[in-house]
Amino acid sequence: AKSLGKGRHVIYHERMDHRTAEQSRVAADLRGALDTDQLHLLYQPIVEMPGGELFGVEALIRWTHPQRGPIGPGLFIPAAERTGLIVPLGAWILEEACRQAVRWRQEMGDAAPRTVTVNVSARQLREAGFAGEVDAVLQRTGLPASVLTVEVTETAVFDGGTALDELKAIAALGVKIALDDFGTGHSSLGLLRTCPADILKVDKSFVDDVTENGEPAVIVAALLTISEGMRLRAVAEGVETAAQAAELHRLGYRYAQGYHYARPMPAEAINAYRPAGDGH
Ligand code: C2E
Ligand code: CA
Ligand code: CA
Ligand code: CA
Repeated sequence: AKSLGKGRHVIYHERMDHRTAEQSRVAADLRGALDTDQLHLLYQPIVEMPGGELFGVEALIRWTHPQRGPIGPGLFIPAAERTGLIVPLGAWILEEACRQAVRWRQEMGDAAPRTVTVNVSARQLREAGFAGEVDAVLQRTGLPASVLTVEVTETAVFDGGTALDELKAIAALGVKIALDDFGTGHSSLGLLRTCPADILKVDKSFVDDVTENGEPAVIVAALLTISEGMRLRAVAEGVETAAQAAELHRLGYRYAQGYHYARPMPAEAINAYRPAGDGH
């Protein structure tokens, strides 16, 4: 048994080494990608129900590797967080999204997205002076603070240290704060008492439940009640079907994001975005 245990131990370590090597390769390539033209942002509409009119957008990063082709953020963002590369990468994302937001305001006027949302990782929020950097980007690009939304997860805020202070400083600039994947963490409700939040993104896993057979949408309904009581905007994430959209709207939800309305798209496609106009 002992030798089996030992053998397993060795196999485990080899796998770990393999994964680590893979990750450092990804990280090394990503460092190069920052300097070349392999990274770009897509934007997914956040819409108003029931009509599907454009309310805002969320910036989502994409990487086209010269050899491997498209690599999803679910793979390389964690690697970038571990290596710290997310700090320069995140700075690039923030500035790129703010520049695009200014462009839309020039090109689309009143029809431009009213908010442009940027995902900010725990590692970025932990970086001292992050709020100052957000301020500097707003100054450089000329984007009004109220148009920017910084989206963070609960774990990022509770990462400890100065994360919460940075978030408060960002809110003090007039930037909106969204809590991502809300309800999936360990202390979501506690977070609402300490964290300055404007938007609550109700996680897809709860949205998936709203049309499950006979399963009342208790959590989704409760999250809306909490949002309204605390004057937060609730956004239902990952809405994939007309039935889900109809049920969410019936419950009182006004904002949604998901493939049912629109997939993440290039910036120019936002200029041309029109609601499908089927009522849901
Ligand atoms: P997230 O912030 O929760 O973003 C939502 C993810 O769900 C996106 O995946 C989006 O394409 C996808 N999605 C949207 N609507 C639907 C739907 O109706 N059905 C389904 N199944 N999926 C939907 P994506 O773009 O692959 O991003 C995955 C995650 O990677 C993001 O989750 C976020 O945590 C991270 N990420 C993406 N872009 C960035 C970025 O610029 N910075 C940081 N720090 N993280 C990012
Ligand atoms: Ca997000
Ligand atoms: Ca999310
Ligand atoms: Ca997520």
